[in-house]
Amino acid sequence: TMAVGVLALQGSFNEHIAALRRLGVKGVEIRKPEQLQSVGSLIIPGGESTTMAKLAHFHNLFPALREFVKMGKPVWGTCAGLIFLADKVTGQKAGGQDLIGGLDCTVHRNYFGSQIQSFEVDLPVPELAAKEGGPDTFRGVFIRAPAILEVGPQVEVLADYPVPSEKPMDEAHEENKGSEKKVIVAVRQGNLLGTAFHPELTADSRWHTYFLKMASEIEGGASNSIVAVEGG
Ligand code: GLN
Repeated sequence: TMAVGVLALQGSFNEHIAALRRLGVKGVEIRKPEQLQSVGSLIIPGGESTTMAKLAHFHNLFPALREFVKMGKPVWGTCAGLIFLADKVTGQKAGGQDLIGGLDCTVHRNYFGSQIQSFEVDLPVPELAAKEGGPDTFRGVFIRAPAILEVGPQVEVLADYPVPSEKPMDEAHEENKGSEKKVIVAVRQGNLLGTAFHPELTADSRWHTYFLKMASEIEGGASNSIVAVEGG
């Protein structure tokens, strides 16, 4: 696998780099467009998406980031990073920020509201457990988190979460368990992975190993097709 880049403008990039290090993988801090050429995949951390967007704009990163996504390189956005990857954003200050886009979904910023800014919950993650083993749930750390309200046909839902049919969110979360209404909190669409929560803040590294495998599969596929073209 080629080096993994971590967008290091703002937010929890150090925690992602530490999570990669625990798996024996070096995360490369990305702050300039040309640095993207040295990595095969990219993690966009959580933080504050409007601030991150301003910094990305200042460093002229958007064209290179969009190109990276379009080339089919593996990109994982967590929380604010998920907002960056979404084609559409609603909610607070939506529309006031540049996005990378590519992920066919509508993300609602700060979905869980100001009343409950942050919470932790054991999320059922059947796909992740099937691929990476371990428990059937993953400890989801939600910090002023977004939620995915709609996805396109190419998007695979990897985790969802029950919410009350009428906002605001019930503070007891337990109360919502039987709710019919669910929001989506983890998705994959081809080369793109998005999680509304923060796996880099837990000791469970399964989302990181999932992404690394996804990256090596995609990178392996890319180099195979280059070989095939050269051979033909
Ligand atoms: N609420 C933040 C935003 O809208 C995201 C929070 C996070 O990344 N933990 O950008």
